[in-house]
Amino acid sequence: MSDFTKFIRDIPNFPEPGVSFKDITPLLGNGLAFNAAIDIFVNRFKSELIDVVVGIDARGFILGAALAHRLGIGFVPIRKSGKLPFDCYEVTYNLEYGVDTLAIHQDAFPKGSRVLICDDVLATGGTLAASIELVKKLSGNIVGIALLLELTKFEGRKKVPNQPIFSLVEI
Ligand code: AMP
Repeated sequence: MSDFTKFIRDIPNFPEPGVSFKDITPLLGNGLAFNAAIDIFVNRFKSELIDVVVGIDARGFILGAALAHRLGIGFVPIRKSGKLPFDCYEVTYNLEYGVDTLAIHQDAFPKGSRVLICDDVLATGGTLAASIELVKKLSGNIVGIALLLELTKFEGRKKVPNQPIFSLVEI
């Protein structure tokens, strides 16, 4: 399994006009493709002695939980504001129009934990930058960032310089 792009489809004008949404449900729905993607992440990160996988709302939960399970470690969700039940740290960041807020439980992992962040798509990098800030509020040590798809035209990496990003597919 090498060409994951055939399992990622473009949905034009979703969720709003002008956006080309990268739908990864065909990949998730195909056992071989899903397993192969997780295999690549596992092989890339298994020697990094990771303590915990942090997945970003919402598709980062699916990939991140599978990855954590395969690595035999815990999973921590970063969610949209107001969804997590315990005390949270929050970070607000700019979207193209307006702002959004992400949250993490204050006791999600111990200080100094070796953290792998996981999400489906990197576009402008705002979501990832906010997530990195949240992990740092807990004094986590980010040793990897696993992404399924990087949309290079948005230059998201510029917003998160010097981070250990690994993208399965770059387009
Ligand atoms: P950004 O903050 O611009 O890097 O956007 C990344 C976040 O928004 C990720 O959590 C993605 O799930 C989602 N996202 C952004 N753009 C797209 C897209 N074109 N297709 C699917 N998801 C996207």
